[in-house]
Amino acid sequence: AVRAEAVRKSFGGHEVLRGVDLTVEPGEVTCLLGPSGSGKSTFLRCINHLETIDGGTLTVDGALVGYEHRGGRLHELRPRQTAERRREIGMVFQRFNLFPHLTALQNITEAPTRVLREPAATVRPRAMALLERVGLADKANAYPAQLSGGQQQRVAIARALAMRPRLMLFDEPTSALDPELVGEVLAVMRDLAGDGMTMIVVTHEIGFAREVADTVAFLDSGIVVESGTPDQVLSDPRHERTRAFLSKVL
Ligand code: ATP
Ligand code: MG
Repeated sequence: AVRAEAVRKSFGGHEVLRGVDLTVEPGEVTCLLGPSGSGKSTFLRCINHLETIDGGTLTVDGALVGYEHRGGRLHELRPRQTAERRREIGMVFQRFNLFPHLTALQNITEAPTRVLREPAATVRPRAMALLERVGLADKANAYPAQLSGGQQQRVAIARALAMRPRLMLFDEPTSALDPELVGEVLAVMRDLAGDGMTMIVVTHEIGFAREVADTVAFLDSGIVVESGTPDQVLSDPRHERTRAFLSKVL
């Protein structure tokens, strides 16, 4: 589970997260909506230990993100512990960030081999199975430049899954894609949700949110203005700002 309580984050004097409250239970999918600059990416980066928070509490599966209790006091996590905790979280970004000099298969085997030091004999078949799962078994030996954006993004998802994450974070995974490639990536994500993966998805794909999300949360100016079932938030929003936002993206 992910639990955020009154999470605050500033850059310089600018408070980007002004008290974010959000809970994501194990196996649930939360879609995070909100206007540009509302703090969606910053919030995901906090969950994934790419930023430390300035206030509030943030835990993933009960463990504080970025901090630990030691000797009765709160200390920032040491880099090695941060790295260990980050391994349990998969992240997929808007821009496909595959290693360009590695094939699709090598992109997937790289981290389990180098970081987890798993033997090639077990990593390779698992990577092939993941490629199959995202519908790209025939592209194992292709380099990213030889793949479409949608295919690259599916490899990126498979690569994240290769680390056996307990939580997957998606930051607008389809917004850099040509429209005809969006569906194949959303299909992989829908499949993953169906398998019970805990997911937080920043997206403007309202259809996906309506169909797949357990919870939809609307973030505005660093605060979760409202959250609820897709039906509540998307069909009958309580707040004017949610309504105004939805009228623009729907
Ligand atoms: P978008 O929909 O455009 O991706 P977002 O909701 O993801 O927007 P963030 O990227 O989280 O928004 O940014 C929120 C605010 O924080 C913005 O004003 C941004 O300029 C600022 N910000 C984000 N990262 C940094 C940083 N490293 N240093 C300074 N300001 C930052
Ligand atoms: Mg963003």
